[in-house]
Amino acid sequence: MNDRNPQNPTAPLIFERSHTGRRGTTVPRPDVPTRPLAELIPAWAMRDKPPGLPEVPENEVVRHFTAISLKNHHVDKAFYPLGSCTMKYNPKVNEATARLPGLSDLHPFQPTAAVQGALRLMWELGEALKEISGMDAITLQPAAGAQGELVGAFLFRAYHTAKGDPRRKVIIPDSAHGTNPATVTMAGYEALTLKSSKEGRMDPAALESVLGDDVAGVMLTNPNTLGKFESDIETIARLVHDAGGLLYMDGANLNALMGITRPGDLGYDIVHINLHKTFSSPHGGGGPGAGPVAVKEHLAHFLPLPTLRHDADGTYSLDWERPTSIGKVHGFWGNFGVLVRAYTYIRMLGREGIPETARAAALNSAYVAARLGDTYEMPYGRGMHESVFSGAFLKKHGVRTLDVAKRLLDFGMHAPTIYFPLVVAEAIMTEPTETETKQELDRFCDAMLQIASEAAKDPDFVKNAPYSTPVRRLDEAKANRQPNVRYRAGDT
Ligand SMILES: *Cc1c(COP(=O)(O)O)cnc(C)c1O
Repeated sequence: MNDRNPQNPTAPLIFERSHTGRRGTTVPRPDVPTRPLAELIPAWAMRDKPPGLPEVPENEVVRHFTAISLKNHHVDKAFYPLGSCTMKYNPKVNEATARLPGLSDLHPFQPTAAVQGALRLMWELGEALKEISGMDAITLQPAAGAQGELVGAFLFRAYHTAKGDPRRKVIIPDSAHGTNPATVTMAGYEALTLKSSKEGRMDPAALESVLGDDVAGVMLTNPNTLGKFESDIETIARLVHDAGGLLYMDGANLNALMGITRPGDLGYDIVHINLHKTFSSPHGGGGPGAGPVAVKEHLAHFLPLPTLRHDADGTYSLDWERPTSIGKVHGFWGNFGVLVRAYTYIRMLGREGIPETARAAALNSAYVAARLGDTYEMPYGRGMHESVFSGAFLKKHGVRTLDVAKRLLDFGMHAPTIYFPLVVAEAIMTEPTETETKQELDRFCDAMLQIASEAAKDPDFVKNAPYSTPVRRLDEAKANRQPNVRYRAGDT
């Protein structure tokens, strides 16, 4: 324990708080006859000894989890400009609806006649997402963007195999998110990396030179991970289609486009949508997400089973009759709670709110770029909803982007995404999102400018940051491979 800090600086494990006999709740004595458990539960299903659960009163449980939640960073605590991840504030009304007993207490084995409301909610969410994406059909099953990509790659395969022409390669720009090449490789394709233009976009001439009859398709984020709108998208779509391929949009950046333009109108055949990013479900802690995949009509019959149907008599049902489907990709219907949150969010925003959100996200990002752009280099210029700065100018002081990110933690903010996209040296990728005020953006920009001047005056000070966090600099590879949940101050 630190003498100057009489409060225990590290929380004990909940098991260390346990005292035999303490309990969180007391249940009233039953006023009906009781029977021994052994009469009700078969012997094989009975435990030999009680589970080793901590015995703690309710207030200790609440304090324990509150204390550890505050050691971590989350969007309810402070600014979270983690580029590409769209860490917008998640309105609490989403939580209220997701917790309505009629939705949260459903059992996935209930017959469809008993869950018409849930099916209707999913149907209406699907319709809204089809309208926003400009597509004809959708599956809500995938659990994340990356799984949406995998569904996309399986759709590539199903489409080409059905035409008797299985192809082997998928083209992906060098600015792409790491999940893109990982996904297509996992699906058995060869990922072909295409160098971006000086402006940070896909160059149609470069694309044309690698397209051929062995290319199953192209995966292209829009706006891309440099925040740039792919302005040649119509030409790109024509080239891909002329070569017999499909065009897939990684829709993780839909927050910049929604309500303004639509992937379907731009020529894409498939798009995944990260509900936990654009449509505001909490994420970043490894919790559930949802990555619905929307497609044009010609791919609809390949979508995962079951698909939802809205029948002529007004009822909703699940359709299992799709012989050409790629199959099931998630247990039951997908991560239903995330779907409820996204549905609520879309209904709260409405038709005007959706494009307004996209515009505000771009405006906030432009403001940060305008304030920081003279100090931090922007090799590819300003992006739409996010901007990628370079910390390379700090190298002359021996300071790296990692040091800037660590020092920012002392200001109580989450660090931006760093060292991604790979095409920018010492990358610092900031995505403020639409939910932050000008004052909050200013606080962030002031901090970033202060860090740049600290780096010039006292590089070692920045290189030893952070100073105010529960733990300081960890061996990040080791911390991932051998997580030490019993960390104590002074451990390495
Ligand atoms: C977040 C992200 C993904 C992956 O989405 P997950 O939901 O995290 O699996 C893919 N591409 C881009 C551009 C992203 O930002």
